[in-house]
Amino acid sequence: MEDPEPRHIALLSSPGMGHLIPLVSFARHLARHHRFAITLIAHPTDHSDSAGNRSLADSLPDGVNVVSLPNLPPDAFLDTKSEARVFLTVKANIPPLRSLLRSLKSTVSLAALIVDPFCLDAFDVAAELGILVYLFYTSSCMSLSLVFHLPKLDASFQGEYRDLPEPVRLPGCVPVQGKDLIEPIQDRGSDAYKLFLNAMKRFPEAKGILVNSLEDLEPGAVKGLEEGEGIPPVYPVGPLVWTVPDEEHECLRWLDRRPPGSVLYVSFGSGGTLTLTQTRELALGLEISGQRFLWAAKSPHESEANAAYLSAKKNEKNHLDFLPEGFLERTKDLGLVVPSWVPQVQVLGHASTGGFLTHCGWNSTLESIVKGVPLIAWPLYAEQKMNAIQLTEDVKVALRPKVTESGLVEKEEIARVVRCLMEGEEGRRLRKRAEELSDAAGRALGPGGSSIRAMADVGREWMDARK
Ligand code: UDP
Repeated sequence: MEDPEPRHIALLSSPGMGHLIPLVSFARHLARHHRFAITLIAHPTDHSDSAGNRSLADSLPDGVNVVSLPNLPPDAFLDTKSEARVFLTVKANIPPLRSLLRSLKSTVSLAALIVDPFCLDAFDVAAELGILVYLFYTSSCMSLSLVFHLPKLDASFQGEYRDLPEPVRLPGCVPVQGKDLIEPIQDRGSDAYKLFLNAMKRFPEAKGILVNSLEDLEPGAVKGLEEGEGIPPVYPVGPLVWTVPDEEHECLRWLDRRPPGSVLYVSFGSGGTLTLTQTRELALGLEISGQRFLWAAKSPHESEANAAYLSAKKNEKNHLDFLPEGFLERTKDLGLVVPSWVPQVQVLGHASTGGFLTHCGWNSTLESIVKGVPLIAWPLYAEQKMNAIQLTEDVKVALRPKVTESGLVEKEEIARVVRCLMEGEEGRRLRKRAEELSDAAGRALGPGGSSIRAMADVGREWMDARK
């Protein structure tokens, strides 16, 4: 006999579009393909009023109820680095989260709480209230493998990881130099390091880990996780990407007027910015390349590359006066520069888009793969250097420009990789590989596909879980 009341799943997202987007995609998937009712608990983000956030909210199907946790005072954790601030924001919101989950549990048949990797403090609340807790890991299986390796590395090596004498060899993954491991662990004396390490040590408490990835993209890493000791069951359920409702944007009409596969899309995600010098060098590199481009350009910052989420100073200037003098005029037949936000999934899916210069955020990576677009990997922060290494050396779907000792990617180098991707023999090979991966992504989420099966397995666990 059918259960008259649908089982209910609560999803908890930490602040930041890069976390919210995959959770929303997952909520949509659960509501559409499984008989679950869903409450998505979100933290307000800097982009709460933005076009991106509005179209994200519009893309939610019936059956998903969104609840927002309270806004913290604007000056909360101002002195803290952005990743640490995300953890601290989540911690500060634990009391309202507890009340919310308590009231949810008393009114619906709550099968599980699923949290993103910055919300591990919610484990305590789940334990207190007797709710099964799972993780939804929003990046690669390779970086998840690092999560389980880091406590050992911490115990066995004293110095900074950039000084590790040997590359780190995660099971089934390409070797990674210490300097390319995730950014927040690069300063072991920092608060961010302690927060990350403590969070990572708690991953084994999850009943299972759903990962926004697919077996065909990283078979070695998936196997390594499955065989690893002390690792909860891992379910690769991706690639779950943001399917935007049809949106009007001038850049799409501009793309309509360009030849198929001829435009390089350039974007550093929802929060990535470059220095002023690097932004200008990028502009000149695009110009010298002579290739068509669509650039979602953000105002530069003057220090090292960083994430702008939760930043006190918002990058909301809608003008482009940071670009080199005369650049817009000289490139008006070749390129379009859009300040800030564009509907990326639609841009990547447009027939005129032939390449993506990206900061290698995991959502951007998956979206490019789903749409069969090869990449130029230009990582900035978080786990993006690991993603870039995986994409260039393992998956072989990306090119990577050389960076000088002073940390600059020079205009000639930018022009070289752009030409190579857009018109070279290597670019053609990468495009073919991107198309193969796109097919694999379609299969993973098609009938009987690996991600659909993984989802069904964990879904059965939730159906069987008794209150
Ligand atoms: N995005 C977008 N338009 C933009 C910039 C970003 O739609 O102009 C979306 C993009 O499609 C992706 C997300 O924002 O879904 C960025 O996530 P990602 O993990 O790539 O990077 P993050 O922003 O977290 O660094």
